[in-house]
Amino acid sequence: MSDAINVEKIFGEDVFGDSAMKERLPKNVYKELRKVIDEGAELSLVVADVVANAMKNWALEKGATHYTHWFQPLTGVTAEKHDSFISAPDANGKVLMEFSGKELIKGEPDASSFPSGGLRATFEARGYTAWDCTSPAFIKRSSTGATLCIPTAFCSYTGEALDKKTPLLRSMQAINTQALRILRLFGNTTSKKVTPSVGSEQEYFLVDRDKYLKRKDLIFTGRTLFGAMPPKGQELDDHYFGIIRERIGAFMKDLNVELWKLGVTAKTQHNEVAPAQHELAPIYAEANLAVDQNQITMEAMKRIANNHGMVCLLHEKPFEGVNGSGKHNNWSLTTDDGINMLDPGKTPHENKQFLLVLTAIMAAVDDHADLLRESAASVGNDHRLGANEAPPAIISMFLGDQLEDVVEQLVVSGDATSSKKAEKMHMGVSTIPNFKKDATDRNRTSPFAFTGNKFEFRSLGSSASVASPNVVLNTIVAESFSYIADELEKADDFELAVHDLIKKLATKHSRIIFNGDGYSDEWVEEAKRRGLPNIKTMVDAIPALTTDKSIALFEKFHVFTRAELESRAEVQYEAYSKAINIEARAMIDIAGKQIIPAAIKATTQLANSVNTVKSACADADVSTQSDLLLEISGLLADTRKALEHLRVVTEEASNKNVGVERATYFKDVVTVAMTDLRTPVDKLEMIVDKDLWPMPSYGDLIFEV
Ligand code: ADP
Ligand code: MG
Repeated sequence: MSDAINVEKIFGEDVFGDSAMKERLPKNVYKELRKVIDEGAELSLVVADVVANAMKNWALEKGATHYTHWFQPLTGVTAEKHDSFISAPDANGKVLMEFSGKELIKGEPDASSFPSGGLRATFEARGYTAWDCTSPAFIKRSSTGATLCIPTAFCSYTGEALDKKTPLLRSMQAINTQALRILRLFGNTTSKKVTPSVGSEQEYFLVDRDKYLKRKDLIFTGRTLFGAMPPKGQELDDHYFGIIRERIGAFMKDLNVELWKLGVTAKTQHNEVAPAQHELAPIYAEANLAVDQNQITMEAMKRIANNHGMVCLLHEKPFEGVNGSGKHNNWSLTTDDGINMLDPGKTPHENKQFLLVLTAIMAAVDDHADLLRESAASVGNDHRLGANEAPPAIISMFLGDQLEDVVEQLVVSGDATSSKKAEKMHMGVSTIPNFKKDATDRNRTSPFAFTGNKFEFRSLGSSASVASPNVVLNTIVAESFSYIADELEKADDFELAVHDLIKKLATKHSRIIFNGDGYSDEWVEEAKRRGLPNIKTMVDAIPALTTDKSIALFEKFHVFTRAELESRAEVQYEAYSKAINIEARAMIDIAGKQIIPAAIKATTQLANSVNTVKSACADADVSTQSDLLLEISGLLADTRKALEHLRVVTEEASNKNVGVERATYFKDVVTVAMTDLRTPVDKLEMIVDKDLWPMPSYGDLIFEV
């Protein structure tokens, strides 16, 4: 078969990973570099020079002409500035391809044009990118040719982190240190390193590019700002896991090949709940790599969709009334010798180390629910969280029958003496093999669910970088571990101290456990009684970053300074205000220039019809035309009024102080005015002649890809 894909052969071929390094670096250099990667040793310029040269030669063989420091500023997407490898021409006009250790280690992009939340004034432009050797360099292929991408951290001249990677790496150091303390207390002398493992399931929509180009709202904001529901939605559940259509399949195939070449372990693909919605999940990897690879994946999705005449929508809610897209962040802690600290084993009640880890995570999630909520907050995600399709905005933890039972035993009697067993499944058909069920069912309404040997944080939005939630998770669990290790290291009777600590934590934090229906109104009431925060919007979530508690936490573990946290809060407020401002202005533009003219045309046609029919036959019944004329004229007037109101309140926003005041104004006033404009427009769409409607409908977009 000519188009057979040899996955083993192509996997990782565009990555300067371990095998390329081993093959191309002198043994001693390779060894030194591994020390840097594995143990965080310092990198010397001599080693960097050798690595840079080998990396360049490898990249040239792959056809690269340029290199770039690839980084993740606070915009949430990646940034790159390309430099070609050429040197200045010599006396004969000949150029050489060069790349030094210095160029590998350090770059100097202008920091003033990236969000810094007040950390940098425009005139203080200097910023640095620094090589992160724990995430391998790779070749990106696009219309610009092949470019060697070097993952880097991005900071200001004064050393503050201006990106998503730096705090993530810091948080990984923190959890490593604290988790090792726990392992040592339980007698583990062999593991050298603990790393958070992350697997992020990515949801996305694909729509036809020609139709997309007729929707200014999609072009400017990534989501539809108007749109009536088609006759059919997702109620038949016929898209979820349905047969993948040919056009989508061809996209998925190209995407997989590209990702495999880049060393991304694309594993699972399927149709999602909403029409035109799909999902891709990789095999989990070390947190830092997983974050980078998720960015690579999102970027590849967009590029490859384009090659197939489609556009990939990563917005959390491209279509109102249809399920939106999320991203599940699966998280566990793995030692360098392969132990998963979140593995309960067959009899969790006897596994004291696991129970301690579990109750530590309960404490962390309970104590810092507001930070976790904030880490999932985005403008787009405000349309999902708490909207009965995604987890509620209330953070709670699902443990499942088995662990919930164990925790209950601990709380009630101070001891857990049994674990519910996984049962055998009998399907009642002799030819179908019997198999063991999982010890626990699933709960898709829970934001933070234990799923066998990992936690799945399910609140994230589809477009988000997975860095922030992992920074929070790593740090809050590091804090819990640190507290536990402090207690246990000074205990006279270790066994007894462990026992007491597990009981104490389980009891104190059992309010965070909820195994029921997270979509129900009863849960909202119950959560309130329990004192769990219910933070409904991004703007309401941002203050969590800068509470005294949060500053103390992040400073203690050297993940963020106070200034960095304050700047991030500012960046978030600004991101919110800017996004809503763009949405409001796009609505004003579309309603004024496309929708109102279309509706006027419709009324003119109807009026002409009334007159023409009447003059041809005075007795003819024109009540249909005149009723429609009245209805459309009424909605037209409503639209115009709502449009003017939106225009006024949007303009008013510039008088509000930048930051919390402006963001709050956009949330409380502008988004309401946007809804008020949308309502009559969506009604118009239902009755205006389709040929006159100025853009493709929801039905056209999601059923005809
Ligand atoms: P589920 O069906 O529970 O969602 P999957 O096996 O489909 O589980 O995995 C979902 C994601 O979780 C995948 O990206 C997978 O690689 C990842 N994952 C599996 N085990 C772990 C683990 N121990 N730690 C982190 N992620 C994991
Ligand atoms: Mg899952």
